[in-house]
Amino acid sequence: MDSGFPFSTIKVLGHKYAVALMNSERAEESGCVGLLDRNRLTIFVAEHLAPSKRAETLFHEVVHAATDATGLMDAPGRDDEDVVNPLSRVLFAILTDNPLLTTYLLSFA
Ligand SMILES: [Zn+2]
Repeated sequence: MDSGFPFSTIKVLGHKYAVALMNSERAEESGCVGLLDRNRLTIFVAEHLAPSKRAETLFHEVVHAATDATGLMDAPGRDDEDVVNPLSRVLFAILTDNPLLTTYLLSFA
């Protein structure tokens, strides 16, 4: 299956997530352009998105997976979107605005 990305899995804190595109019908049904299936460890991104929005959405779902794994969202009454939206936007911007930093960080992978 074509993931729509140059890779088909992403590892997040010890868990391997499959990456897949979802058609616009499913995206409309869910009301989301990205979905994290926490049980099947799959990230879905709407195929109709422009490439930069696809990347941003994928990263947003990766941050959901990361915050799930850390228990950051376990506080009662906490809406995970209140944390994941700004956190994913800030991290995405830092990594994409600073390719030399990103490359340097990758040297530790
Ligand atoms: Zn979200």
